[in-house]
Amino acid sequence: MTDVRDDGRSRQAGAVSSHFIRTIIEEDLRSGRHAGRPWRGRPGPLAVQRDAPVDPAPIRTRFPPEPNGYLHIGHAKSICLNFGLAQEYGGRCHLRFDDTNPEKEEQEYVDSIVEAVRWLGFEWRDDEEDNLYFASDYFDWFYEMAEWLVQAGHAYVDSQTAEEVRANRGTLTEPGRPSPYRDRSPEENLRLLREMRDGRHAEGTQLLRAKIDMASPNLNLRDPALYRIRFATHHRTGDAWCLYPMYDYAHPIEDALENITHSLCTLEFEDHRPLYDWLLERLAEGGFFARPLPQQIEFARLNLEYTITSKRRLQALIASGAVDGWDDPRLTTIAGLRRRGYSPESIRLFCERIGVTKSDAWIEMSALEQALRDDLEPKAPRAVAVLDPLKLVLENWPEDRVDDCEAPAHPQRPELGRRRFPFARELWIERDDFAESPPKGFFRLYPGNRVRLRYGYVVECTGCEKDADGRVVAAHARVFLDSKSGTPGADAYKVKGNLHWVAAHAAVDAEVRLYDRLFTEAQPGAGGGDPLDSLNPASKKVLQAKLEPGLEAAAPESRWQFERHGYFVADRFDHGPGRAVFNRTVGLKDSRGNPRR
Ligand code: ATP
Ligand code: MG
Repeated sequence: MTDVRDDGRSRQAGAVSSHFIRTIIEEDLRSGRHAGRPWRGRPGPLAVQRDAPVDPAPIRTRFPPEPNGYLHIGHAKSICLNFGLAQEYGGRCHLRFDDTNPEKEEQEYVDSIVEAVRWLGFEWRDDEEDNLYFASDYFDWFYEMAEWLVQAGHAYVDSQTAEEVRANRGTLTEPGRPSPYRDRSPEENLRLLREMRDGRHAEGTQLLRAKIDMASPNLNLRDPALYRIRFATHHRTGDAWCLYPMYDYAHPIEDALENITHSLCTLEFEDHRPLYDWLLERLAEGGFFARPLPQQIEFARLNLEYTITSKRRLQALIASGAVDGWDDPRLTTIAGLRRRGYSPESIRLFCERIGVTKSDAWIEMSALEQALRDDLEPKAPRAVAVLDPLKLVLENWPEDRVDDCEAPAHPQRPELGRRRFPFARELWIERDDFAESPPKGFFRLYPGNRVRLRYGYVVECTGCEKDADGRVVAAHARVFLDSKSGTPGADAYKVKGNLHWVAAHAAVDAEVRLYDRLFTEAQPGAGGGDPLDSLNPASKKVLQAKLEPGLEAAAPESRWQFERHGYFVADRFDHGPGRAVFNRTVGLKDSRGNPRR
């Protein structure tokens, strides 16, 4: 199986291994750490949860995307992890839109995220609960808690300019300098905070900060910002607020409101964990939450070679016009992978294989591709496609005679039945299956050579026709009428070449889109460069192909193995009655010389 590089070690893909997060959860379940906490069936602080029934979920996880773009393969790792663990331990996973930042968020992204998570095979709704949440629904609670923090002396309104705040923050080697406003009285702070909420201060003039430790070696604890003023319209709350919470303030509260037990995030938040814990401890002291509080656990983000997994960079790529939108099949967005022909099962398999670790690594694209092949090999029905068609004329086959040929839908799965297609005097074969003067080792069609037309007859090449420019426009052959596959004596013909073909009169004309890597560099934009500088100019090729007649009726999104060519999907949007459009998902084998099984 594919070797994936992970954690500096090479690992047997497919060997499902446990990981440190499972270990933590199992230990918590054994000790009963989270047992008995109340749950009203909906989020809320202790005032809501008190005296509620015991939470039926032994663990709660969440997937908390910010709706500022489409999800990508990196998010799939997080989705599979969070939803997968909840499933495994009989718990629940919430889909929470972390929509606390008014400027970049849109309904279109919310809809696309809902669709992507469902398509991957996960669900947040069951008979008892519908765990779809929006952080913006918690704005009143966030604010109420901020007032309490101010009154308890844990937060203050800072009136320094943004530059002053930055300059006084210190560095990794120098402590920060306290703001001159740090010792304002709780009363003054409360008055200012309310004025901020009421829109009486301009953007950037006031900031609500936690009062922790300006000398902490962890910069995140040097009085981090909790709330800032933004006169912006929010996609759900409109103009109700001009005060918006910072991520580090909102996120732990969201988790606690939702009874989350294990809050999984990527490693860059490791240094934020002390703030996460500090805030929840204070709010527990204030009576907003009961212990045990949610626990933040970090894991390595997924980096995949030859692609980008950052919404910001994806935005820039799309804005540049280099690709055709968020669902361009060359992108490793979930929407792009889906359109490319990836199955949800293959993406889940990939996520299981790469595992969960504590150290960042780059995963080879071949690991994702191999997961797809492994998923589709036993499932995808076979069909024939001639991608670069050349006419083959069988000189001794009667003009009007049409023969029926048949083949298994899947060589290892007879239960999938058989496909039938006609054989006639004029056929399409691949242009590169014919050579007028064969190079050494060429055993397909060339004058004087015999090949088998798969599931049909053995033919012997007699020559070719050319146009005025010397280009071959048709190959010619004679057919051995007693050589039909499956008939007695057919095996007497010994040939080396076995070509695929489609009868010209019955072939389906199709647009076939071949995709290659979008970038020429393994780590586009790493080292500070612009990923747009390493775009592969030949990442998309469109062909006019000839397909086996049965494919006329292929459903959009149906996946096929085109014999000798690879896995293809009927395009989700462009394929339909009267117009056949197929995308190549991946070739049959790794053409880049990477090891495969
Ligand atoms: P981006 O940089 O693409 O915007 P993000 O982390 O800002 O990513 P969010 O919407 O905030 O995107 O992420 C939602 C969840 O998905 C978070 O819990 C985040 O940790 C996780 N996530 C995002 N990217 C990856 C990745 N490459 N690998 C694993 N998890 C990821
Ligand atoms: Mg983010």
